[in-house]
Amino acid sequence: MMSMKIALAGIGKIARDQHVPSINASADWDLAATVSRHGTVDGVEAFDDFAALLAARPDIKVVSLCLPPVPRFDYAAAALKAGRHVMLEKPPGATLSECHALAAMAREAGVSIYATWHSREAAQVAAAKAWLKGKRLYRLKVTWKEDVRRWHPGQAWIWQAGGLGVFDPGINALSILTEILPDPVHLTGATLEFPENRETPIAASLRFFHPHGGDVSAVFDWRQDGDQIWTIEAETDGGNLLLADGGAKLAIDGHWQAETHDDGNPLHGEYPRLYSRMAALVRSGDIDMDLSPMTHVADAFLLGKRVTVDPFDE
Ligand code: NAP
Repeated sequence: MMSMKIALAGIGKIARDQHVPSINASADWDLAATVSRHGTVDGVEAFDDFAALLAARPDIKVVSLCLPPVPRFDYAAAALKAGRHVMLEKPPGATLSECHALAAMAREAGVSIYATWHSREAAQVAAAKAWLKGKRLYRLKVTWKEDVRRWHPGQAWIWQAGGLGVFDPGINALSILTEILPDPVHLTGATLEFPENRETPIAASLRFFHPHGGDVSAVFDWRQDGDQIWTIEAETDGGNLLLADGGAKLAIDGHWQAETHDDGNPLHGEYPRLYSRMAALVRSGDIDMDLSPMTHVADAFLLGKRVTVDPFDE
């Protein structure tokens, strides 16, 4: 199969860490251009203006957008209007309405759009989903606790309205939750902790309605020292599940399951699987715009009780 030319916009942390290596390692893709005000990739044509890229390179039919959520909509809308297929980093937008608008624009233009959820591609998520199927859920607890200073140094946008705060990692947990649970849940209550000098929350706790009476909850916290915790624990009528390390490891009734294929090979792992799916979507002309993780975040902002906590300084 011929490789497809792709442009990458927003050359920052995740573009360098994951997108560039995944594209370069894949036979599906040819990284043909970048768009960024400051960032570039060695050996790749660089633009600092998105409209200029769209005008100059009609041969590039696919764009992957790695900028933060608030500025991303204008780029996505311009790309779709110009008849390009679009791949979106998570979260797919700053609001649900703009995501629905993008999906409608893609349908109108007859191109593909993909709201990616990289954590769903973590090694043991599919196995966890398969194990939970058909079991009665008694309790499920999400714990996502990490040190914001370690993972987001100097990133101003995560603390500005629309940047999601602790929901930036928390939405990864929600993307796994919505993938593995056999029955959909919805939010019934939340508490959001806002540092008095910031526009987005540093911690959140969430409670969900489960259709068969399961006790489903989540806690996200960005003030974690020491061990970083990204776990989902479930108790069912068929035993207990622990999904750990953000979906990379799985234990059933205390026994760790065999490691899967995330072995450091650049063709494996979360982002290679996202790019493989994008290639399939472009070839089939389909749209994949599942907004369920973001719906829970929006509901938390709608329903959540706001508590002001100590100021946060880097
Ligand atoms: P980042 O490094 O702070 O930003 C990415 C790039 O976007 C920046 O280098 C900047 O490039 C461009 N940008 C920033 N603000 C902009 C604006 N207002 N207008 C236009 N361009 C702007 O962010 P990141 O960590 O890569 O995250 C980007 C997205 O990926 C987020 O949605 C995040 O949730 C997601 N993500 C991040 C990680 C991670 O580990 N960091 C993991 C998974 C997913 P220029 O200044 O060169 O234009």
